[in-house]
Amino acid sequence: MFSGRIGAELNSPSPQHRCIRQSFLMIRQGLTTFRNISLLTLSASLCFPRCSMELRKDPITRSWVIVGDDVERPSQPGYCPFCPGAPHAPQVIATLNSPDHAAGPVTAMVHPAPLYRIEGEPHRHSEGIYDAMNTVGAHEVLVQSIRHDIELWQSSDAEILQFLQLTAQRIQDLKGDLRFKYVTMLKNHGAAAGQEFDHPVSELTATTFVPRRVLYELRASRDYYLEKERCVFCDTLGQELRSPVRIVEALSSYVSLCPFASRVPYEIWIMPRKHESSFERSITSKSVQLPELAGLIRRTLQRVMSVSESFHLVLHTVPNTYQKSNILQYWKTVDEDYHWHIEILPIMGTKAKPYFLKEVYYTHISSETAAEKYRKLGIR
Ligand SMILES: [Zn+2]
Ligand SMILES: [Zn+2]
Ligand SMILES: [Zn+2]
Repeated sequence: MFSGRIGAELNSPSPQHRCIRQSFLMIRQGLTTFRNISLLTLSASLCFPRCSMELRKDPITRSWVIVGDDVERPSQPGYCPFCPGAPHAPQVIATLNSPDHAAGPVTAMVHPAPLYRIEGEPHRHSEGIYDAMNTVGAHEVLVQSIRHDIELWQSSDAEILQFLQLTAQRIQDLKGDLRFKYVTMLKNHGAAAGQEFDHPVSELTATTFVPRRVLYELRASRDYYLEKERCVFCDTLGQELRSPVRIVEALSSYVSLCPFASRVPYEIWIMPRKHESSFERSITSKSVQLPELAGLIRRTLQRVMSVSESFHLVLHTVPNTYQKSNILQYWKTVDEDYHWHIEILPIMGTKAKPYFLKEVYYTHISSETAAEKYRKLGIR
């Protein structure tokens, strides 16, 4: 239920998403004579029900929404496309081995049923007062481990580090495509979060628009900067560290905290202490501090898993600054005013209900109480 509202916005999988994946598998099984998987992916996407999907813009809120009709298909129990040696595995885009073989490999693959298609142009057009465009973009699966039953928080810090490096490399690579305005990584874990695959994976999406939540953050950060010539995230972090009631862990380079106005109970963010707008740039240039970040992500997810079985995780990083937009003025100061962070939103089951009644986020556990509970878990 939350997946349509939180962080990733359009990026969260839906029941529609799952049934498309299943139909993809059926198509592929009927086409086993194809040896070239990329040709197979293309042929599947050409005749796929998702082809009828399009992006539509809400003229009032200016949010982009994926809209289309789809057909529910039967599932394929017991089949995992991401385990090593799986038949009909998706096309591999990149693989990263650690130099000392302490971790990995971690792999980026084409999503078996992508929400966005890499080929073509967005063809943004009007329908009266409305805006619409094709679902052009990229949708990849980041396979965090070759093991089917080891999740990110059960992995070693070296393995998490490998995953972060692959994520950064893929974001940088996709930002070279000037059609894309925004590239990010997200993870939906647990049934309530709309988890799509049994195998431990995250997802990467590149879109021709900036998702709404990120757009709000970019506009607000720019406005704050224009007024004060400071980063709102740095100022927030400074205040939180002076009175650390909502701080969960404060390390030399990274901090985890429960935000002042948490949208859900036990919401927790991870941020770099020093001002950095771009996750991918900082990961590829500052390898010395990466083990600290890997350890913090592992412990943070262990804490989240101790309070909830499901969560949404989303990376918020700077938009594609190669893509200079005259309309979107926030590009000008974005390196000074935006500050990358990871947001994790646990799903607390039935307690989420009041939101849908009131249309206002309702958190029945304060950020201070949540941070205190997280600190007392004794996770190392
Ligand atoms: Zn598997
Ligand atoms: Zn900052
Ligand atoms: Zn954010």
